Formats: sequence, structure tokens, C-alpha cells
Amino acid sequence: MVALPVLQHRPAPATPPRSVRLSLTDRCDLACVYCRPDKRDGYLEDRLEIDAWKTMAKGLVQAGVRRVRLTGGEPLLHPAVVEVVAFLRTLGVEDLALTTNATRLARHARALRDAGLQRINVSLDTLDADRFDRMTRGGNLAKVLDGIETSRAVGFDEIKLNAVVVKDENDSELEALVRWCWERDIVPRFLEVMLIAEGAKLKDRVVRASEMRARLAHLLESGEAQHEAGRGPAKYIVARHDPTKKVGFITGTSDTFCKGCDRLRVAADGTLRPCLATNDGVAASVEARSGDVNGITLAIGEAWAKKPDGDVWKGCTEPDAADVSMRGIGG
Ligand code: SAM
Repeated sequence: MVALPVLQHRPAPATPPRSVRLSLTDRCDLACVYCRPDKRDGYLEDRLEIDAWKTMAKGLVQAGVRRVRLTGGEPLLHPAVVEVVAFLRTLGVEDLALTTNATRLARHARALRDAGLQRINVSLDTLDADRFDRMTRGGNLAKVLDGIETSRAVGFDEIKLNAVVVKDENDSELEALVRWCWERDIVPRFLEVMLIAEGAKLKDRVVRASEMRARLAHLLESGEAQHEAGRGPAKYIVARHDPTKKVGFITGTSDTFCKGCDRLRVAADGTLRPCLATNDGVAASVEARSGDVNGITLAIGEAWAKKPDGDVWKGCTEPDAADVSMRGIGG
């Protein structure tokens, strides 16, 4: 049998979304310099209630989603975050993770773990209290460290640390962060500043992953950094002295990774977002609030068809990305 040639137009992705980020709330108690200008920069007027989130979750799973990460804003500011985790667990989500700034992690870690949360990513750019205060505009480092220690004691399957590297601010701390993480069985990951929202103002302060890697060369194996299948855009390199340790790099600016992106995002107001770097989306709050699971599934298909073609789209380096709020869409 002769296979028919496939038309090379820009089709909607053939596979349905497998991975979703739920921005439970766009509120955040920090104002990181690359994310937002200050803490009074405005919030969404409408946010889904817990029952609407449950309908949304059912629709996502019905549409084929198998991996869920809760994010925001700061997800631990949402009063029902533990309930959402427990509900997702009942739906049979295979990989359930959360990204947090950890200011409230000490008080929630045990309940999150008991509810079925498997993995946690903590965003922490520095181990210096003054620098932390400066980079987050008022954050308290001790609270974050306390949250990390509690999470280690609770025993999540994996803890990663995400550090955004800003030239002439925290780029002197790469090695210190790596060693600190490795001593605690935490996987350190370094992110290039993405030119999105406030990050667009820091064009001159981007440290490319290749430069970060060069600075850590004495600690890391040489050779190509490797993707982990189905685990997002980070590429990892193992430690020279210990193959069980690794460092991840996320190259949102020097090498965008839209090709192969299988992520959908749901903003706190119930808008389905096909890409972090555009304001495109499909509103699904009416369906979520009326318990219309099939309607959610249809809306997911519609949003997925709006996913930019990863062969030509360059994510956060596209000029319009500066107008997008990562906190609003769900970073
Ligand atoms: N509040 C949670 C937290 O701090 O992890 C979740 C939301 S936050 C928007 C998600 C991640 O996006 C954090 O790791 C943050 O550092 C990162 N982020 C925000 N703006 C960024 C930018 N312009 N470039 C790179 N990373 C950014």
C-alpha cells in the first residue's frame, strides 16, 4: 500500500494536550524583578471557584491530560489548593506537581503530600537574604528555606529548585546554589530570563545557558545536555563526580523550545491558554461554572487548535511576549 503524502500546512497539533498548568490564582505575595513591576499591578477580576475548578479538571482529564502542575500567581495563596490536589488525585492524574515560591510551604507541605502531591518545584534565585529581598521586592528568605526543609522532611518524590539568573545580580551564585541543592538531594535548574512581562526590560541582563554551563564546567560532565522525555523543556547534565546528581538549564531566550511543546495552560479566570507567550485563549469559565464537562473538552480542542506552530514560532522571544503576564497566564 502506498502512503498518501501529508499536506504541509500548519495543522493543529495531532496529539491532544497531555500536560497542563493550572494557574489557581494570579495573586502573588512577591514581586520578582523579572515578573511584575510591583505588588499593585492589578489582578484578574474573575477567578474560578473550587467547584468550577473541579469541572475544569474533569474536562481536562477527559480530553487526555495526564500531567498536571499547579502554579500561579502563587498557588499556595489559594485557600482550596489541598482540595484541588486531592480531587486531581481521584481523577487518576499520573503526574501531579506544584510550583511555588515556598513562602507558605512550611504550613502546607504535609497536607499537600497527604493529598497526593508527588513533586514540587521551588523558585529561589539566591541564598543571600538581602539579595532575596531585593529580587523579590520584600521577600523573606528564612520562610522559603523553612518551607524547603519541611518539604524534604515530608518526603516528596522530587524537589527541584528553579533559579532565574540575572546578570550582575545573582549570577555569582551559580556554584553555591548547585552545591547547596546537591547536599540536600534537590535538583537545581537555572532559567534564562525570558523576555516576557517585566523580563522584557531585562534584555541586557540575560545570562545564556551556555555561559552558565561554562561557569559550572568544573562540576559537570562535558557533552550534550539531555531532555528527559515528557518532562518539559529543561535539559540536564550530570555531575562529574556523581551520576545521580544533575543540573538543569531552561533556555527560554537563547534557544526556544516550542517545537514539541505539549502544554496547555488554564488561567485563574478559566481561560484556556495554548501558549505562555501569547494572549490567545478560549474562555471556558461558563462551562466550568455550569458543570459542563463536555463543553470544557470542546473548548480544549478549540484552544489546542490555536497552539502556535512550533516550527516557526519562537515563544518568549516573539515581540508580543512583552505584553503577556506570566503571573496571569500561569508560569
Ligand atoms: N509563584 C510561583 C513561583 O514563584 O514558583 C509560581 C508562578 S511563577 C510565575 C513561575 C516561575 O516563573 C518562577 O520560577 C519564576 O521565577 C518564573 N518566571 C517569572 N517570570 C520570568 C521571566 N521573565 N523569565 C524567566 N522566568 C520567569
